[in-house]
Amino acid sequence: MSLQQVDPKIAELIAQEKHRQESTLELIASENHVSQAVMEAAGSVLTNKYAEGYPGARYYGGCQFYDQIENIAIDRAKQLFNCRFANVQPHSGANANLAAFMAMMQPGDPFLGIQLSSGGHLTHGMKLNASAIFYKPDFYALDPKTETIDFNSVRVKAKEIRPKVIICGYSAYPRTIDFAKFREIADEVGALVMADIAHIAGLVAAGAHPSPFPHAHVVTTTTHKTLRGPRGGLILTNDEELNKAINRSVFPGLQGGPLMHIIAAKAVAFGEALQPSFKGYAQQIVKNAKALAEALTKKGYRLQSGGTDNHLMLVDLRARNADFTGAEGEKALEAAGMITNKNAIYNDPRPPKVTSGLRLGTPAITTRGLKENDMTTVADFIDRALLAKDDAAQLAKIKSEVAKFCEKFPMPH
Ligand SMILES: *Cc1c(COP(=O)(O)O)cnc(C)c1O
Repeated sequence: MSLQQVDPKIAELIAQEKHRQESTLELIASENHVSQAVMEAAGSVLTNKYAEGYPGARYYGGCQFYDQIENIAIDRAKQLFNCRFANVQPHSGANANLAAFMAMMQPGDPFLGIQLSSGGHLTHGMKLNASAIFYKPDFYALDPKTETIDFNSVRVKAKEIRPKVIICGYSAYPRTIDFAKFREIADEVGALVMADIAHIAGLVAAGAHPSPFPHAHVVTTTTHKTLRGPRGGLILTNDEELNKAINRSVFPGLQGGPLMHIIAAKAVAFGEALQPSFKGYAQQIVKNAKALAEALTKKGYRLQSGGTDNHLMLVDLRARNADFTGAEGEKALEAAGMITNKNAIYNDPRPPKVTSGLRLGTPAITTRGLKENDMTTVADFIDRALLAKDDAAQLAKIKSEVAKFCEKFPMPH
């Protein structure tokens, strides 16, 4: 029986969500639209079975096809990131990070990351997260002038706290990451480098951002952001001993049975990312981000660090209007058919639930086929909506214009 027959309520909500995605501009930097092929694998019979363990060493019978699927996913991941080992089982990026921590540290060990408010992820030592409950975080900083990583502070902190692990890779950082520099400092204090490339994995795979290898000891990522796969995590390394520790920490350390339907969908997405066309996609993400950044700058917005090298930008709304907040910006844009998230700007005086900025990203709109010249249109929509933030009728009018504009850019199939 179809979903429609069994559960019309849920079927109807899914249909509404599909329409919402089709008729709005998805500008959240961590989201994307996957292909029909990825969705088909994720929605397959592979959800039915247990496959605890790893290919060739399972705790359940009947895993012959699961072994082949997981091996294909592993091989493609290794090819994509040009490394020796891959674990494709983490259910999410957060799980991948905790598993990597378990492989590299003992409880209570010190590590170095960057604060959530400076662009880090909550798994990098936010006080309520397992990373801070079971390990001991400290933080390096952004340079107040350039608003980019202050490597002097990385070195000073590293010498002070002697971390086991130094994390680089961020959730809200618009610039290229200098992995070699992190390794240089890590070597000075005997730390391991963990590169969390959750946001930029697709750019790295396509050569549109430098690779963390050979500098990072362990690389973690999500598979659902620029990499355009199903929601999930992935851990990579070139080190045989670390690989063994990672495999143990994912299973049985942290997880039980792997989500084999999602691992199959990861394999499909990795296969797509290995196609020459994915290079073009990744380059277009970056071109679009640069074009959107320029168009917004022209309208009087300030971008943290002055611009972007990757798929995202942090827009300081105060430059356009000192009273604008991230929270009301996010709300106004949503009412006008543009989905974004509020984000702290460096040294933001407003609290995290308000903020002075927006984080905008181009991965999803690039999947829909928008090009550089479309970014002036997008910037116009954004600026008009922000200026009309208290005018519900005007916001509704922009929303219908955005929906009309979206019709030119069909979802992937
Ligand atoms: C998104 C993200 C994660 C976590 O991913 P989830 O799948 O949401 O757990 C980890 N690290 C960074 C830097 C991220 O941006």
